[in-house]
Amino acid sequence: MNNRHEELSRNVAIVRERIAHAALQSGRSPDEITLIAVTKTYPASDVATLIELGLIDFGENRDAEGSEKSQLLKARWHFQGQIQSNKIPSIANWANVVHSLDNPRHSDRLDRTIPSEKTMDVFLQVSLDDAPGRGGVSPDQLNQLAIATLEKPHLRLQGLMAVAPLGVEPARAFEQLAVIHNGFSTHFPQAPYLSSGMSGDFETAIIYGATHVRVGTSILGTRNHPL
Ligand SMILES: *Cc1c(COP(=O)(O)O)cnc(C)c1O
Repeated sequence: MNNRHEELSRNVAIVRERIAHAALQSGRSPDEITLIAVTKTYPASDVATLIELGLIDFGENRDAEGSEKSQLLKARWHFQGQIQSNKIPSIANWANVVHSLDNPRHSDRLDRTIPSEKTMDVFLQVSLDDAPGRGGVSPDQLNQLAIATLEKPHLRLQGLMAVAPLGVEPARAFEQLAVIHNGFSTHFPQAPYLSSGMSGDFETAIIYGATHVRVGTSILGTRNHPL
């Protein structure tokens, strides 16, 4: 057993403990929370170790990197980066879940490029501020995007995804998200999930209803180059 194995094992145990604590605090079972290990910038060998430690779900932000790792290792692969139109055919091939759908043209293109026997789980990314370039549809266009997505035969709408804006107290951002999510689940009860929360704020996200947390740094360590 090498040091990296021990380090990852310890980090996963701590993150699971923190998830369980936040879930119980919010009156839910820890089993209701899906932990996605965000392995961007880290090697496939780390993914292999995390699979040995019982993780199933892995998140990547870049098409090329996700495509490469997914060819080496069987897991449930989540794409959570900003979608570039020309990368959609590749993403359609390797990803099992897309968290960052934020525009009806992408929904259309994704549906058309998914291999016919396959379906793709999708979350709609909602913007909690109007900062350009970070992705996400504005809350007032959400229902329209959901309707367009539900019509697609290869897409299975799961719910919403969001990232807390920089410089905003996570609790405020996730409280705002909870209001949006409540409205959304009333309209679309078939898509009840909420993907929110990263290393710095996943407990707060869980308290405000997250069902999926995307955790990189707390499991794998600080990334050398930001992404
Ligand atoms: C990088 C990233 C994460 C993980 O961030 P950490 O702070 O390392 O846990 C989660 N979600 C998205 C969209 C990301 O880009």
